[in-house]
Amino acid sequence: ASGYNLMRDPRHNKGTAFTEKERDAHYLRGLLPPAIFTQELQEKRLMHNLRQFEVPLQRYMAMMDLQERNERLFYKLLIDNVEELLPVVYTPTVGEACQKYGSIFRRPQGLYISLKEKGKILEVLKNWPERNIQVIVVTDGERILGLGDLGCQCLPITIDVGTNNEKLLNDEFYIGLKQRRATGQEYAELLEEFMTAVKQNYGEKVLVQFEDFANHNAFDLLEKYTRSHLVFNDDIQGTASVVLAGLIAALKLVGGTLADHKFLFLGAGEAGTGIAELIALEISKQTKAPVEETRKKIWLVDSKGLIVSSRKESLQHFKKPWAHDHEPVKNLLDAVKAIKPTVLIGSSGAGRTFTKEVVEAMASFNEVKLPSSYKPKSFCLDKPLILALSNPTSQSECTAEEAYTWSQGRAIFASGSPFDPVEYNGTLMVPGQANNAYIFPGFGLGLIMSGAIRVHDDLLLAASEALAVQVEDEHFKKGLIYPPFTNIRKISANIAAKVADKAYQLGLASRLPRPKDLVKHAESCMYSPLYRTYR
Ligand code: NAP
Ligand code: MN
Repeated sequence: ASGYNLMRDPRHNKGTAFTEKERDAHYLRGLLPPAIFTQELQEKRLMHNLRQFEVPLQRYMAMMDLQERNERLFYKLLIDNVEELLPVVYTPTVGEACQKYGSIFRRPQGLYISLKEKGKILEVLKNWPERNIQVIVVTDGERILGLGDLGCQCLPITIDVGTNNEKLLNDEFYIGLKQRRATGQEYAELLEEFMTAVKQNYGEKVLVQFEDFANHNAFDLLEKYTRSHLVFNDDIQGTASVVLAGLIAALKLVGGTLADHKFLFLGAGEAGTGIAELIALEISKQTKAPVEETRKKIWLVDSKGLIVSSRKESLQHFKKPWAHDHEPVKNLLDAVKAIKPTVLIGSSGAGRTFTKEVVEAMASFNEVKLPSSYKPKSFCLDKPLILALSNPTSQSECTAEEAYTWSQGRAIFASGSPFDPVEYNGTLMVPGQANNAYIFPGFGLGLIMSGAIRVHDDLLLAASEALAVQVEDEHFKKGLIYPPFTNIRKISANIAAKVADKAYQLGLASRLPRPKDLVKHAESCMYSPLYRTYR
């Protein structure tokens, strides 16, 4: 083990933080400048450098460079500065990075499995140096954020079946397969080989998180593998869980129970129908009404208008439960006026669709004009709840400023991508970030630490409740319905504990005996970015 190689391995490199002893013991003398930095000082220097970049994509690239150089320092920066850096390594900047991935590409990260690897996927998995894998995040890149088909992009495992994105097919720097997407049997066979190889190589309890598949494949894959594998679709289930958490928390601000509310969605795909189903399930648990009944409080609009039972064209199967009886309504504004929802959720991937008229309509009927002496006991309808979930920022259904201004400061607003606080009439309004990033780390940890063998909807509900109870009075006062990301490690530990607890209750956990203190156990399972000492 030469010092030279040690420094070039991002998992072991400490850069200027190698101690005198380590420099002597590991042949590092002379390979480093004499000064010895603490990890904190390295962090301070890097944050300073990062802030010099004006262009977000440059910050993104600087972070990727750091990850390739010094992994622990990368995660230390991320953990200690999560509110500042999440918009850099995640939405919105990651969206731009994905679009330009071919030209900013330096080194591969994770695995690429393309049609060329058909019949050899198990061998490909064995090429990955790490044997003990607990979570796999897999995409086929067909629906990246709200940006559509971005083909073969950087994620731990990318299944490359081609791309239908003309721009990429004609881009000389495109790194993926230059052919149109495989579909049907060819697609199904590659995924079947992948799912089989994953279990064969990593065992029964490896978690496969599906990410950013287009909806036709996403629903099919989840349905197909949910009984044979530990699978979780972040866009359907993670989004559902995070939104339900926000709604449960928001009840503290608007009063009433979930069943008192009426929901309207723009967008009836993975996110929209996934959220709708989890809300219906939760109301059904609370009221004991069958889910067929509770779904009737929830309406969805897709590109053709309000989804109604009389619609002539055949509906995709995931929309069918939402086709309620109503006359046809062509657009969102008319749907808002017809349904008069208390909660409006954007999950369309289409930006600027919550127009002034839409938000004003939401505000107009979510307004109770009562004498000022009257204090509503439990349920006050003066705060429309507006969630603009679509990512990245360019696809957001409206901005935070628009939601507050057009509702005269009454809207409770959260969005998929972050917005800065807005001052409205002298009050600082802080928009929350309704993003599945609150759920998937803790949810995955809960599954892994309990040795869960299957995902169950009750685990998603447990995650929602665990997130909702972490919103505190100081957050509500600012209009937040999510706790700040700064505490994501603590938040995730609590979510993991509740998810694991539910898995034990349901008999889905295989790691026995059950640890007494699940929060402590979750914390002890978490990654630490602190440097190790090399002897
Ligand atoms: P999807 O499955 O493709 O669904 C999109 C839905 O929106 C479809 O029902 C589509 O209608 C509808 N739609 C598209 N453009 C529309 C328009 N102009 N007017 C009305 N309806 C329109 O996509 P998805 O997976 O649900 O994702 C949608 C968005 O949610 C993406 O931007 C994604 O970034 C975001 N998202 C956010 C989070 C989060 O944590 N915040 C998580 C997941 C997804 P048709 O069915 O008629 O085509
Ligand atoms: Mn996603």
